[in-house]
Amino acid sequence: MKEGYIEKSMEATAAEMEAINRYTRRNYRPEEVYTFSLVLCDNDVDRDFECFPKESLEKLSEMFLGKTCILDHERKSSNQTARIYQTRLERAAGQRTQAGEELARLTAKAYLPRTQGNEETIELIDSGILKEVSVSCSVKRRACSICGKEECAHTAGKTYGGKLAYALLLEPADAYECSFVAVPAQRGAGVVKRFLAPGEKVEKLLSSPPDGEVLLTKAQVREIGRRFSQLAEKAQWGQMYRRELEEGVLKYSAIAQPQMPRKVMEAAVKGLGLGELSMMERAYRQMAQSMLPLKPQLAPDGEEERETCNGAFLI
Ligand SMILES: [Zn+2]
Repeated sequence: MKEGYIEKSMEATAAEMEAINRYTRRNYRPEEVYTFSLVLCDNDVDRDFECFPKESLEKLSEMFLGKTCILDHERKSSNQTARIYQTRLERAAGQRTQAGEELARLTAKAYLPRTQGNEETIELIDSGILKEVSVSCSVKRRACSICGKEECAHTAGKTYGGKLAYALLLEPADAYECSFVAVPAQRGAGVVKRFLAPGEKVEKLLSSPPDGEVLLTKAQVREIGRRFSQLAEKAQWGQMYRRELEEGVLKYSAIAQPQMPRKVMEAAVKGLGLGELSMMERAYRQMAQSMLPLKPQLAPDGEEERETCNGAFLI
């Protein structure tokens, strides 16, 4: 199974109509068919660390001729299919594969009759919703890119002496249908697909993300956004609480230890965690209170008020 994609839709030329009409029972006119081109596969190393060498692509080019493209979710309905009427191996000028060879793409042209039942499919292709196709075929041999053997100790995906090891897919045996897949679902094919189960915490995904791409639903993105703004608000409260504690330490330490330079205390509180800062504030406050028990702003009433007020910020 490989992935390809639809390139564009276009008007069928007279030569193309001839090719199309080889597959139809009666002769269709250009306005009766909808045609589009697609890229089936290329000779680059894919994410499974496999690669079709050009010879394999040439063979596949013949094999895909006349094969159908099926709309994934409508497998049963025979008129929801397109047929490949032309294939071609195209060179991508100036582009190289990971292995340093000239990039070659196996492209195909397919048609759909313009029937009422196909209107939706055509709309989905034109709008880009149906863009990717999955292509399946079988090969007789897989050979190692490093040593050429079918069985060896090299592991695809690893590099040996600076050279990437991958599997060469050789001697195609058959090409099967290709199927359209709507883009959102297709994004996951071959890629790690990770939806959170209902009720599963987003933290779990954030703390141990899987390898590869992560796919989130809109609801999950909204949930992360909601949690983020909640935390941002809490962080603001925390900062306010911290400033209050710092000011308290500076104020009470000036009373309890007047010989201590303010700069030293300022530097000291900066390095403290919130818990230590809170303990320090309490200690200096008590020291200051015991030294100046009658000072109005340090009276028990004010003290209680302060506790209540801080209580809201305690984490
Ligand atoms: Zn090998």
